[in-house]
Amino acid sequence: MKTIYLDNNATTRTAPEVLEAMLPFFADLYGNPSSMHFFGGQVARHLKTAREQVAALIGAHPSEIVFTSCGTESDNAAIMGTLYSYPEKKHLVISRVEHPAVLNVAHHLQARGYRITELKVDGQGQLDLEELRHVLTEDTALVSIMTANNETGVIFPIDEIAAIVRERGIPFHTDAVQAVGKIPMDMGRSPIDMLSLSGHKLHAPKGIGALYIRKGTRFAPFVVGGHQEAGRRGGTENVPYIIGLGHAAEFCLAHLEEENTRVRALRDRLETALLERIPNTIVNGDRQHRLPNTTNLSFEYIEGESILMLLSDEGVCASSGSACTSGSLQPSHVLRAMGVPFTAAHGSIRFSLSIYNTEEDVDVVIDVLPPIIQRLRDISPFWQDYVDGKPMDAFLTGGDVAHHVHG
Ligand code: PLP
Repeated sequence: MKTIYLDNNATTRTAPEVLEAMLPFFADLYGNPSSMHFFGGQVARHLKTAREQVAALIGAHPSEIVFTSCGTESDNAAIMGTLYSYPEKKHLVISRVEHPAVLNVAHHLQARGYRITELKVDGQGQLDLEELRHVLTEDTALVSIMTANNETGVIFPIDEIAAIVRERGIPFHTDAVQAVGKIPMDMGRSPIDMLSLSGHKLHAPKGIGALYIRKGTRFAPFVVGGHQEAGRRGGTENVPYIIGLGHAAEFCLAHLEEENTRVRALRDRLETALLERIPNTIVNGDRQHRLPNTTNLSFEYIEGESILMLLSDEGVCASSGSACTSGSLQPSHVLRAMGVPFTAAHGSIRFSLSIYNTEEDVDVVIDVLPPIIQRLRDISPFWQDYVDGKPMDAFLTGGDVAHHVHG
């Protein structure tokens, strides 16, 4: 059975050329870049090139790039590193739809006396910028808002948001883990102070990330140790993975145009065909401001997990927005924050493409998914009630959605 991988927001394939570039740094070029001798020096030169490659992808200066172990560490470092620098300020602003790498840091801080504001989103998954303006105070240490949402692909007007925050003299961080490599990012033209990215979302391996810190931004190290990364992150550099991230950055820059034309067209073709062929299908999120590779679809009155399992049996890998973690029946916090009714939120599936996907991949999904949905609806009492015109239970219609919205 052929694997049809449409779960690229979860992780991407390491590009073969990226892997190849990494290999010498496990074997022959194993020196420590901090060493004084020639052997360490040659590794340090490759590290410098990787820093330049990553900087080029986001229009930054190489000295503004700090290598980390992953996107989660970058997010933690940006938030904690800023709070350490402004010990007198106790207010943090985020959005309700952040990734747990930001959301749970905020909750951790809340339990330790910080005041957290979680900005709400509308039905399209977009923020109200007036609300943002109103919540900023003298006590606000940091605003951290993602560039693009991992579940829906919705893109926030991040430069506009950063400008509002900068006007008030408050530092601004963005979790751009899903955006970097998929849409153009240019720190030279943007008021963003800090930005997180992650290697495994852009065809480098898992376990490598970077934090962009604009020159002049107040920042104290989160990982404290040696003087590596110009004193901003202790720990001997993960050289092979940093080399991989550098090559992946170059790879993504070279394929950015393709991502926004061919991949976008494939995504649109998949979405349009499924909407045509499957009744009671909803696109979650702002279709006009979305990553080119992502579609989040709700198939009403059935369970996302069941759809995923049956797709998986056909070799298709996707993701569900309603992971019933720890026995909870709650659908994703993102869809809940958007007010998506439970009947739809439970049946949501995210397809996320990459430049490795083909028309044939999309055609397989267009063929296999409609009968899967029909099969599940045939055995769904909720679908039967809907067809019979019976009223839904309040829980299932999201009548009580406000009680389930996070925070
Ligand atoms: N932020 C967002 C928006 C993500 O989608 C992810 C990964 O899913 C992360 C942060 C965490 O990145 P990592 O897996 O590299 O820790």
